[in-house]
Amino acid sequence: MVKPDAFPHLGKILNAIYESGFRVNNMRACHLSLQEAEEFYAVHAGKPFYEKLTKFMSSGRICALELVAPGAITKWRSLIGPTDSNKARTEAPNSIRAHFGTDGSFNAVHGSDAPDTAAAEISFFFSNPSLGKCDVSRGTTLGVIKPHAVGDGVAGLILDVISERFEVTALRQLAFDRASGSEFLEVYKGVLAMGEFAASVDEIIAGPCIAVELRSKDNSDSVESFRQLCGPMDSELARVLRPASLRAKFGLNKIRNAIHCTDLPEDGGLEVEYVFSILV
Ligand code: ADP
Ligand code: MG
Repeated sequence: MVKPDAFPHLGKILNAIYESGFRVNNMRACHLSLQEAEEFYAVHAGKPFYEKLTKFMSSGRICALELVAPGAITKWRSLIGPTDSNKARTEAPNSIRAHFGTDGSFNAVHGSDAPDTAAAEISFFFSNPSLGKCDVSRGTTLGVIKPHAVGDGVAGLILDVISERFEVTALRQLAFDRASGSEFLEVYKGVLAMGEFAASVDEIIAGPCIAVELRSKDNSDSVESFRQLCGPMDSELARVLRPASLRAKFGLNKIRNAIHCTDLPEDGGLEVEYVFSILV
């Protein structure tokens, strides 16, 4: 789990996760209530740091991840380093806590400590969609990192670029099926050539996507600013016209173009609701 202090660095941490060889089976950002944080850390109830810990854990958004790898529990705990971030800096300087933690309380990430607690914690976050629901935000837009980019392990890099200019107000990994994928892309039916529309649907349902709700940090219109960051729909054209855009950097062509973004200002809220409420 990425804790509130490190949530702004989620892109970099996700990239470290992919580079270490984990598969991400599930992922979801939440904002825990104090009560939910107390429940998650019930094992520490009564300890002197419990109140500080639960207040911290409910102070902002977190991201829960279900990570898969041989020896995943030990592998992840070794990647994050010792509980105390200062100790991590001396004993494991390349660890996540060494990079992103502050001290023994604000230590950037959590890791399950045994198979039974891992199973319980995964079920805590992923079997109850109403747990820690992020506030419904206004003036936001939707980005969906496409399956080819998730599969290539570049979603962390994409998220890191996005986070420079946008606050991530909600996030979830999801898989569209043919019905929901066609419905989600419906507006492009009349715009794209018939074969291109079918190919776009085939791509969006090809594997897990990562959906993000975004709000621009500089008070500009979120939908328009994010469209600018994504660049022209066709990645090959984007590399000519807007070489710094996400589609130029991470896309392959018009269909595998790394990321979907909301096109029309009035659709931002609707697309966010479709992915974060209706499809859940
Ligand atoms: P870990 O997260 O490495 O499994 P623990 O399970 O012992 O560590 O503790 C849970 C969390 O409680 C820690 O990640 C840290 O945020 C906080 N914590 C643990 N020990 C202390 C302490 N002595 N003082 C302040 N906070 C602590
Ligand atoms: Mg622990």
